[in-house]
Amino acid sequence: MTGASFILAINLFIAALFALAFLLVATTNRADRVAGWFSLAYVFGLAYVGSEFILPVQGDPRFAYTAGFAAFFGAMASVAIGIARRYRSPVPYVLIGVTAVAGIAANWLAFDLPRDSLLRMLTYQAPYAMMQTLAAIVVLRTRRRQPMDLGLIALFGLSAVQFMSKPLIAVLSGGSGSSAGDYIFTTYALFSQSLGAVLQVATGLLMLMLLVRDMLVEVTARSETDPLSGLLNRRGFEDRALAALAQSGTGGGTVSLVTCDLDSFKAINDSFGHDTGDQVIMAFARLLADSPPQRAIISRIGGEEFAVLLPGTPLAAARLYAETIRAAFAALPIAALPQHMRCTASFGIAEHDGSGSLSDLRRRADAALYVSKRAGRDRVSVATDPELDAMPRHPLKGTAGRST
Ligand code: GH3
Ligand code: MG
Ligand code: MG
Repeated sequence: MTGASFILAINLFIAALFALAFLLVATTNRADRVAGWFSLAYVFGLAYVGSEFILPVQGDPRFAYTAGFAAFFGAMASVAIGIARRYRSPVPYVLIGVTAVAGIAANWLAFDLPRDSLLRMLTYQAPYAMMQTLAAIVVLRTRRRQPMDLGLIALFGLSAVQFMSKPLIAVLSGGSGSSAGDYIFTTYALFSQSLGAVLQVATGLLMLMLLVRDMLVEVTARSETDPLSGLLNRRGFEDRALAALAQSGTGGGTVSLVTCDLDSFKAINDSFGHDTGDQVIMAFARLLADSPPQRAIISRIGGEEFAVLLPGTPLAAARLYAETIRAAFAALPIAALPQHMRCTASFGIAEHDGSGSLSDLRRRADAALYVSKRAGRDRVSVATDPELDAMPRHPLKGTAGRST
């Protein structure tokens, strides 16, 4: 076994490992749009390595040579397609298809040219370089690039340059062999296959890390989102609210908290059923999410309780906001309820005093909300009175939604 064929065998293992790894990602993630393509790329890679192994034993290696080209092009094209899908860029299927057909035809015809002629080598390498450039351009065009994106651009760019410089490498390393069967015994093959192995591992690892990061981001987002309303849940709210309070402590401006609780909601559930109750929760959530104040952190923190943290918003502006939501909700027809019926919500507001904790702020806003409930519901109360801070919060019972 020559050095180059040894590295070729290693490439076979690398391709198989990555094909399996991406297949695993694709099958564990039901909504996969990318990993399947990367897996396919490495399956094509396996086919290419296979063709290199059978080339030396072929009487007429033209078919195996062209098939090897087609397989490796398939690998490069699958990577480009996967990358375009990952970055939500339109996939240039026509361009890829035309390049594939032209590349296969050109390689079939160029097989008779002298092995190290520039035309023959470029016919073989340029389509690969083109696919890697395509992938690099897709990543380059994304707006907010992170270090991993920059790494991919660098690797795809490097890989494209590597393909285009192969004719030069062939000349410098003493040629790619006198026949297709000779290739595997040349120093050029050793260089070429080693470079391929390094780039294959680096690109594969980076693409795998990219997909794992995507999955982590998705899982985190899901764990912080309330599925019914699409708003943040308590966990998501607390994470962001704590960060906003910390920022306000370092000169980020006044922060106010609005807490809301739907009025007599239990009676709505009891009278019209849980599904209708859900519709009311969703209607209120939509109202909150519709044109929110800048930087507002909106959440459903419990069953029919909501919290909106308003960074950079003093008490008076927060009150105006809560009043707008209150009035809009009290006037909102809800499809699942009788036509004449309207629901209401009560609100409590507190301003962060710059020193207390998030739970202090919530306790004060909740105390103000309790005042709204006691005063008859469908209103906004503000925590300004120090006495209010000491007030306990009792569950209140009321009547079902009012009629207009
Ligand atoms: P108040 O005006 O004092 O707030 O009275 P209320 O009836 O709204 O208050 P209470 O806290 O007693 O009732 C809240 C109800 O919300 C009880 C619970 O069954 C209901 N609930 C909690 N989560 C959900 C949900 O996801 N969907 C529906 N439909 N109901 C829910
Ligand atoms: Mg309630
Ligand atoms: Mg409640």
